[in-house]
Amino acid sequence: MSEPTEQLPTWQHFIGGTWVEPAEGQYFDSTDPATRRGLYRAARGTAADIDRAVTAAQAAFEDPRWRDMSQTRRGHLLRRLGDLIAENAGELALMESRDNGKLLREMRGQLTTLPEYYHYYAGLADKIHGSTIPASDRRVLNYTAREPLGVVGAITPWNSPLTLTTSKLAPALCAGNTVVIKPSEYTSATGLRLAELALEAGFPPGVVNVVTGFGPEAGQALVDHQGLAKISFTGSTATGSRIAAATASRFIGSTLELGGKSPNIVFEDADVANAAMGVVAGVFAAAGQTCIAGSRVFAHRSVYDELLERVCARAKTIRIGDPLDDTTELGPLAFEAQRDKVARYVDLGRSEGARVLTGGAATDGGLGGYFYEPTVLVDVDNSMRVVREEIFGPVVAVMPFDTEEEAVRLANDTEYGLAAGVWTTNLARAHRVAARLEAGTVWVNTYRAMSPMSPRQGFKTSGVGVEHGTEAIREYTRLKSIWINTSEEPVSDPFTMRS
Ligand code: NDP
Repeated sequence: MSEPTEQLPTWQHFIGGTWVEPAEGQYFDSTDPATRRGLYRAARGTAADIDRAVTAAQAAFEDPRWRDMSQTRRGHLLRRLGDLIAENAGELALMESRDNGKLLREMRGQLTTLPEYYHYYAGLADKIHGSTIPASDRRVLNYTAREPLGVVGAITPWNSPLTLTTSKLAPALCAGNTVVIKPSEYTSATGLRLAELALEAGFPPGVVNVVTGFGPEAGQALVDHQGLAKISFTGSTATGSRIAAATASRFIGSTLELGGKSPNIVFEDADVANAAMGVVAGVFAAAGQTCIAGSRVFAHRSVYDELLERVCARAKTIRIGDPLDDTTELGPLAFEAQRDKVARYVDLGRSEGARVLTGGAATDGGLGGYFYEPTVLVDVDNSMRVVREEIFGPVVAVMPFDTEEEAVRLANDTEYGLAAGVWTTNLARAHRVAARLEAGTVWVNTYRAMSPMSPRQGFKTSGVGVEHGTEAIREYTRLKSIWINTSEEPVSDPFTMRS
C-alpha cells in the first residue's frame, strides 16, 4: 500500500509487480458499511490502466520465467501462496469484514479454508497433461497437449471477494495463465493484498495484476480489451449476459457464475428442527448476500406451521450489530444502495400481497450502518416478483406444497439454477428429488457446503462453465492435437495423404 493521503490510506493499482498511479490520477472512497466511516481510497481505473495491466500480463505470459517454468514449480508457488494467506489470515479477514460488513468470525472461517484452494491446485499443477492417441497407423504419432490460454480477465463481486477471486485465480495460475483482476468497487483492498502476496510467493511480476475501479469503466474496458484470452466473471445475471455476448462475438471463452433464487425444500419426513436451522443458515447467514441464498422455501403442508414457527423464532433472536463483534449474527448490507434495494423488494412484496411474519424494516444497527432485519414473507407464490427475482439480502419467502411432484415443479419454476436444498430422512426420495432439481448444486440435509474439490456450475441463467475441482482446469486450458509422421517414406500420392 502507498502512503496515506488526505487521512485515508490509499491503494493504487497493482500492475507488473509494482504499485501504479491511476492514469487519470483519480481515486474513490470505500466506506465501512457498519459505521459509514471512510476506510480507504482506491485508484479509479480507466481503459488506459486496463491496457497497461493487460500489456504487463501479456509480457509475463511470454516471459520464459513463467512460460518455461516447470509445472512442479508452479505448484510450489501456489502452495507458498496458500501458506502466505494462512500466515496473514487475521489481517485479511479483518480487511474484508470491514470492507463488506461480513461477520469477522465468518471471515475467519473462510480464511481457514481459503489456503486449501491454493493447496488443492498446487497438487494439480503437475497433473495437467495430454494423452497419446492411436489415431492412425503406427507410423504416425498423435498426441494432445493442454495449453494455457493467455491473459485471463477476472471480474468479481463484493460479497466474498477473496473466495470468489480465488475460485478463478488458483486454477488459472495452476494452468499457466496470467491474470488481470478487476474487483468490485465496494471491496478493492483484499484483491490488491492478494496480488502483493502472490508476488511475495514468487510468481513473476505481471502474472497477477489488479486494476480497481467501477464496473462500467474499468470492468467494461477489461471485457473489451483485445488482448484477453478469456473472461471469468462472478456477478449478476444482467452483467454476465452482456459479458457473454461480448466474449462470444470475439470467439473467446467465458466462465460465468451468476445469480440465484435457490429453493430449500422441506418434506414431511424431514427433521424439522434441523431443516429450520438450514433455512436460517441458507438465507440469513452473510445477511443473505450470497449467490446460493436459499431464498425460496417450500415446506410440506403438514410441517409448514412448525417450520415457520421455528424459523421466525430464530430470526427474531438474531443479534444484529458490529460484524467485528464475535457475538453478532447479522452484519450490515455491503452498501447503502444494496440496503435500499432490499427494502424496496420487501415493500414490493407487501404491495403484491405478501405478509411479513417477522422483520421487514431497515435499521442502523445502533452504529449508523446499512442493516436490514431478517425477514420472513408468507402468503406468497411463484408469480410474485419478490419470489422470482434475486434480492440478495436477508429475506425469505415460505410457501406450502402438498406432493413431491408439486415441490419439484415449484422449485424448478425459476429462471435460475444455481443451488437447491432438500430436507428429508427418506433416502430414496433424497436421490429422486436431487436428480430432478434443475440446479448445479444440490444439498441434502445441509446447506452452503463448499470445497475446492467439488465442482460447481450454475444451470439456466445462473451461469456457464465450471469452477472448482479438476474440471476447472479445462476452463483455463485449450487442447492441441499434434500429429507427427515418423515415416521416412516419400509421399507418393499427394491426394491420399496418410491418415
Ligand atoms: P454486478 O454484476 O453488478 O458486479 C459484479 C462485478 O462486475 C463487479 O466487479 C462490477 O464492478 C463489475 N461490473 C459491473 N458492470 C460491469 C460491466 N459493464 N462490465 C464489466 N464489469 C462490470 O454484481 P454485484 O456486484 O451486484 O454482485 C452480486 C451478484 O453476484 C448477485 O447476482 C450474485 O448472485 C452474484 N454472485 C454469484 C456467485 C456465483 O458463484 N454464482 C457468487 C457470488 C455472487 P462494480 O462493483 O464496480 O460495479
